[in-house]
Amino acid sequence: MTGTKKILLAAPDADSRSLLRNIFHDNTALYEAGSSFSALMFLQRNPDTALVVLQIPLRSSDSLETLIYIRLSPWLINIPIVALAASEDEKSRLRIQKLGATEILPWPTPPEQLQQRIASLLQALPPQTGELPGSLAHQMYTLSQSASCGICVYELLPNHTIETIFFNQAYARLCGRTTAEYAALVTNGTALKRTIYTEDQPLFQKMIESMTTSFQPVCKTIRLQGKDDSIRNISLTAKAYAKFDGHILFHTISLNLSSPASSASSLSHRALGDNAFDPLTDIYNRETFSQETTRMLNEHPGREYMLVLWNIDRFKVVNDLFGTPVGDNILVQTAAHLRDQLLGIGTFGRLEADSFAFCLPADLFDLDRMLKEQIRLCSGFGIQYNLMMHTGLYLTRDPHIGVSQMCDRARMALSTVKGNYIQRYAYYNEDMRQTMLTEQQILNDMHRALAEKEFVIFLQPIYSLNFDKPISAEVLVRWQHPQLGLLPPSQFIPLFERNRFISEVDRYIWELTCKYIARRQQEQQAPLPFSVNVSRENLASPTLADELLALIRKYQIKPFLLRLEISESAYIENPIQLIRTARHLQEVGFKILLDDFGSGYSSLKMLKDIPLDILKIDMNFLEDIEQSSRAAAILLGVIQIAQRLNIVTIAEGVETKFQLDFLRTTGCDNIQGYYYAKPMPVEKFDQFMVNPPRML
Ligand code: C2E
Ligand code: CA
Ligand code: CA
Repeated sequence: MTGTKKILLAAPDADSRSLLRNIFHDNTALYEAGSSFSALMFLQRNPDTALVVLQIPLRSSDSLETLIYIRLSPWLINIPIVALAASEDEKSRLRIQKLGATEILPWPTPPEQLQQRIASLLQALPPQTGELPGSLAHQMYTLSQSASCGICVYELLPNHTIETIFFNQAYARLCGRTTAEYAALVTNGTALKRTIYTEDQPLFQKMIESMTTSFQPVCKTIRLQGKDDSIRNISLTAKAYAKFDGHILFHTISLNLSSPASSASSLSHRALGDNAFDPLTDIYNRETFSQETTRMLNEHPGREYMLVLWNIDRFKVVNDLFGTPVGDNILVQTAAHLRDQLLGIGTFGRLEADSFAFCLPADLFDLDRMLKEQIRLCSGFGIQYNLMMHTGLYLTRDPHIGVSQMCDRARMALSTVKGNYIQRYAYYNEDMRQTMLTEQQILNDMHRALAEKEFVIFLQPIYSLNFDKPISAEVLVRWQHPQLGLLPPSQFIPLFERNRFISEVDRYIWELTCKYIARRQQEQQAPLPFSVNVSRENLASPTLADELLALIRKYQIKPFLLRLEISESAYIENPIQLIRTARHLQEVGFKILLDDFGSGYSSLKMLKDIPLDILKIDMNFLEDIEQSSRAAAILLGVIQIAQRLNIVTIAEGVETKFQLDFLRTTGCDNIQGYYYAKPMPVEKFDQFMVNPPRML
């Protein structure tokens, strides 16, 4: 349609529009807009508009806004605007001119005069390019174009689409495009889709949607994608400033966070000196991280910060398997990743070996994204090994907590998930601190406890189902702690298993048990075997049998009175060793019990391999039988197999009559559980045995 020129008539008042309509020639395509929003929407879709006639009623900020936005949009800046100003006041005319009107005519103007001006303006097309000297809009435009941060103005439409109204050169650059290339994307409506990293589009949309309810600025880190798929992290601040008929105008300011590493770090090097940096990764070392983080926190008192600790899982294995250079490269890449993500918004450093820390304002931290990024990072190391990281998080609320203490707390949180394949992060909480303090106290006190005889034994009767009376008992350790009270094994055995102190505690418990058995013998009580727990640590000891033999000799008791409970987990670790040890112990006369059968990885093969006398069936078998007929069938099956193999069975954790009645139908030999008796102190056990309750 050559020759047909698009003209936009923007006038808030319908009467004026119908008046003006008549003055245009036939060879023009006339479009009308009643508000700045519809005017801008039109222009945005029709950047080839030849002329805008803009009516500016008295005190109309709406029309002035239209003027400003036209002049702020790089692709609209050259469209001539005829302003029809109602005000005759010289100052407002000047303002209109400064804002970028090409021509100002009074309103109303006689139609012939208006027609003439419009005709000559249209004829003069294309207009002189660019320059609108002296106009405020032009100045703003120039300023925004030379700004190093990205500036965009958008409109959120009632149907939730986002239209770009204005962008500056720097923003196009952030998107890896020239202004013309980005403008082309805007015109065909694909700018956001093509330049915001796909995974971050929902985040961007969510951020923008939040503007429907608030005028507060929101800040997020998002990724922009260049033509060549290169990715830049930007910090994007968005703020709404006008809402109208479900339309929302807002602008964004974007800062590049992924500046080239070298320039950024050399800058800091100059300021801080070389030994402030970790020589391998070129990011802060522990001391500098601590100093710089302290400084950041002090500069923004009252703001919430997130301190995050990363630890590479089994990094030592990676070093051993692939060599130190590969390990080093992983550390360097991790540091580079942190630099890309955090430069300009927070502090980051390598604390030691495979442990990194960073700290940033809490409102800029996005856990989901961090976890995704972490996986992406780990999968990009290019090694045939499923490398993963664990994360500890600490949110600062208290400005008085020092950075090193913050790191300690994040580390505490991290230690709760270390080695966990499913849960890979944890936030610090106060309970953790309490647990850690208690654990620390337990570790500090353990040697004293042994010397001061604070470990005591509790006995839990094991009943025969055939005779309905106790035929044995299990010996269970308790710690009579002077400050913490009576501690159950769950509070210290796992710690002792880790630091191997368990083997000393076990020996001590065996000795107490033998002493007790000897006392019973002296008191001429009926012989009753007692079973003690033998930890994995001791099972691995080649002198185990000798030690136990020395013990029963010392107290002059028969070996069958001391039964040994060994756990199936030892079988998993070293089956050959366990089989050998168990056989040896059996040969010298001890009875072997396989503990917790069914709690872990037990297999029926174990029953065949391990020389054992008694099978203790774990309580989790029993827990389900009431609900699940399958669980009941499995339990029955296990008991029947044991019977065929001539292995005596003990069902652990019998708590209810239902369970007891069921077990009777299965042919199970013995039971241990709260239904009959809980573990009790020795004196109480003595009394209990005088007249043990029957349950038939
Ligand atoms: P375990 O060897 O499986 O011991 C049985 C545990 O089940 C005991 O917990 C006992 O109190 C509990 N129990 C017994 N009947 C029931 C019941 O009906 N319901 C429930 N819910 N629980 C029942 P305890 O005494 O807390 O011991 C926990 C674990 O600590 C033991 O599990 C054992 O693995 C370990 N342990 C205890 N004493 C020693 C020890 O001297 N040396 C070693 N190495 N480990 C020990
Ligand atoms: Ca046991
Ligand atoms: Ca058990």
